[in-house]
Amino acid sequence: MKTIDTTTVFVCRCHSEENQGASIPPGGVLTEWNLALQLDLAINACMWTHHDTEAQLLEDTLPERINQINEYTRKPKLAIEVHFNAGYSPAQSGFHVEAYQGSRDSLALAGYVLAEMARAYRGTGIPNNGVNRVNRDYRWIGTEKSYRANRQGFVMGTSCPAILVEAGFLTNPRDAAYLEDRSHRSDIGWQIGNGIIRYLREFKK
Ligand SMILES: [Zn+2]
Repeated sequence: MKTIDTTTVFVCRCHSEENQGASIPPGGVLTEWNLALQLDLAINACMWTHHDTEAQLLEDTLPERINQINEYTRKPKLAIEVHFNAGYSPAQSGFHVEAYQGSRDSLALAGYVLAEMARAYRGTGIPNNGVNRVNRDYRWIGTEKSYRANRQGFVMGTSCPAILVEAGFLTNPRDAAYLEDRSHRSDIGWQIGNGIIRYLREFKK
């Protein structure tokens, strides 16, 4: 019997129960941590529909998530974490993907995921803000205290390709109204999954 070489995709749930991130409305119960779960589960489901991929949902603190990814024995693998943004102004809007500029694989993954997830926003007017390249000035200090440290730690701290998705601004009325709908979050997650599959098939083959 031929053994299938399975690719494991790590889907990290953003933030934690203690520190749930941004919310709709500010201080409300629809937090990043809550909103991301359903989206993450849709990414997982998409992975499991392909015979040679599997997904693992990781929770816990950022340093623990990174340790679990880096200590995993099988390869190849990649990691993704989905967040929702909060702006200084309610006018700030849109989705983007962050990747470490020193990782060719991560930048490629970001491109594939952004192209597919954009389908879920068609006709909404929510802008595609592109790929944001994270550099070394943005250093991981190993705690979740700093917002900047958190995002940089994820895209630079993992030993595998990793991207951080910002799925929209919870502080923007149009973005928030779209993201509050469960079916929209599932759709975004499923399209992100399609982008991951395209990266694995077309770029990593
Ligand atoms: Zn966040």
